Amino acid sequence: MTTEPHDGTDPGADLDAVRQRYRAERDKRMRNDGIGQYRRMDGPFAAWLEDPYVSSDGSREPVTATNDVVIIGAGIGSLVTAGHLSEAGITDIRVIDTAGDFGGAWYWNRYPGVMCDVEAYIYLPLLEETGYTPTRKYTDGEEIRLHLQRTARYLDLYRQALLQTTVTDARWEETSGRWVVTTDRGDEIRARYLIIPTGQLLKPKLPGIPGIETFSGTMFHTSRWDFEYTGGDITGGLDRLADKRVGIIGTGSTAIQAIPHLAEGARELYVFQRTPSAVDVRNNRPTPPDFGADHAPGWQRRRRQNFTRIVSGQDVDVDLVGDGWTAMFTALTSAHLLKDRPTMTSRERAAILERSDVNVMDAIRQRIDDTVADKATAELLKPWYGRWCKRPCFHDEYLPAFNVPGTVLVDTDGRGPDAIEGSTVVVGERRYELDCLIFATGFEVGTSYADRVGFDPVGRSGRSISEKWAHGPETLHGVQCHDFPNAFFTNTNHAPRTANYTHLADEQARHIAFVIASARKRGADIVEVTAEAERAWGEEVARGAHRGARYRAECTPGFLNGEGKIEETSGGIYAGTYTDGPVKFFGILERWRAENDLADLDLRAAEADAEVGSEVGG
Ligand code: NDP
Repeated sequence: MTTEPHDGTDPGADLDAVRQRYRAERDKRMRNDGIGQYRRMDGPFAAWLEDPYVSSDGSREPVTATNDVVIIGAGIGSLVTAGHLSEAGITDIRVIDTAGDFGGAWYWNRYPGVMCDVEAYIYLPLLEETGYTPTRKYTDGEEIRLHLQRTARYLDLYRQALLQTTVTDARWEETSGRWVVTTDRGDEIRARYLIIPTGQLLKPKLPGIPGIETFSGTMFHTSRWDFEYTGGDITGGLDRLADKRVGIIGTGSTAIQAIPHLAEGARELYVFQRTPSAVDVRNNRPTPPDFGADHAPGWQRRRRQNFTRIVSGQDVDVDLVGDGWTAMFTALTSAHLLKDRPTMTSRERAAILERSDVNVMDAIRQRIDDTVADKATAELLKPWYGRWCKRPCFHDEYLPAFNVPGTVLVDTDGRGPDAIEGSTVVVGERRYELDCLIFATGFEVGTSYADRVGFDPVGRSGRSISEKWAHGPETLHGVQCHDFPNAFFTNTNHAPRTANYTHLADEQARHIAFVIASARKRGADIVEVTAEAERAWGEEVARGAHRGARYRAECTPGFLNGEGKIEETSGGIYAGTYTDGPVKFFGILERWRAENDLADLDLRAAEADAEVGSEVGG
């Protein structure tokens, strides 16, 4: 298998045959219930959401306090926001999170094999500031989590953090010009600024397989791994599975990382597959001893920008990251070909892009033939869809796991298991007796924002954010909302999707810190986007809403295309996103900061408030 870029001109596969195969594979997976096929983790499954990593119930006295900033969530988005605010001189920051520590997604996801397939040098935040060098090009979840905790210490966030604490309500109080944030621990924090930097994939979900609640063995979701039961840790060594029959449902980005360890540890492993992932070369390696020798200040941002440019299909002089992601994008966009033929028609361009996509997927399918010994299994592991239909995966141990004796691929022909009955998973005529069933079935997408975040902020006019966003996001740059003064959001609502989430979070955080600090310089500690500016940004986002929709409509269903129902506004992770890409988006933010002179914002001073910085309890 090679990661050499394809130039899009080689004859490759018979396109018509490939198109037909893609369509047939998509059609057999199409279903009417869309995201309704999934089951929330409530009722008998509510306890699955509990935190398995804390040693106490976190009881404490309620805190009543006044702070400059409350940030909801203790993950990467929160840390980069706190970093930029601190640089701007705003340091009275209180972080609140349900989790027992900093880490966000990396706090919860501790399954064996958990790692980040985006290069550590661009993914981990604040490497320059903390002076930390990741040990490998692609690092594991533990190293990431520990670095996020290091970063929280560096930013002095532990002192005021309320962990093991869930926000229940946040309301704008016009008289005091503050957000009043309350929690399930009886806390009441009055904050000048409320920042909600959540990612997209917050709440784990389960498949709605009939009888799921009847399973009589041990079962859990990958985001709450039961190491008590399996033994081992995130590096593997699942020694308590040696006499167990284990099933795993799902073959997405998470599953492909856990499966090699399950194959090694379990007596028997059954991998229930609905749609195969497309898994390209990982090629991990230790950080070279001279890494950073030539780094000048600002190197991390430049490296991030370089990566983001490449994975946005733009031409660069040098590929600083040089990995599977960048090779894939170069191949897929055939950037050099497109550049050399500026006069080509859109039809010619589409043909080149389609050919490149098929070539890249052919190479991925060939890699399966080259790796998996059993030919029937290899055939079933082949993905038949375009490269963008599912999140691209990179891994070097996943495919060899199917050569481990005792590992069985149970392909469900696009349907998923039919039923769960006691200790048995039923697929067609076959019944699989199991001791343990693991759900690698991902996270809610397309459900309401407030549901996923866990509370529903109420703004100036008494309207909640879910009422305001009932028909889709309304924001300026995805960051601020009219009627929600001093509230800031970061995620991909009205903002682009990126391969490197940290880059997006960092640029949004930079922007938030700029807005707050610039307004304060003008004596205004209340800042609210005008209705006109918000409307104009909504129109800008809507103009590009169709981009990529045709490609996604032809994709096999998944969370990227609303389970095949992309025409529904609630469907798909792209709904409400800015589709012109991160490079253009970051440029817009930069120009706005340089040229808008805060004209899109209403600025005013809050009335004097004697309590700032005070704290009672906790
Ligand atoms: P995904 O949603 O990507 O995958 C869920 C899997 O469950 C899919 O294979 C899906 O199949 C399968 N599934 C769902 N319902 C059923 C069913 N009824 N029967 C059988 N299979 C079913 O979740 P992940 O947790 O794998 O990944 C979520 C995201 O987390 C990724 O997209 C990525 O953004 C992030 N991530 C990033 C990593 C990194 O290295 N940076 C590592 C891990 C995760 P189908 O495809 O048919 O829907």
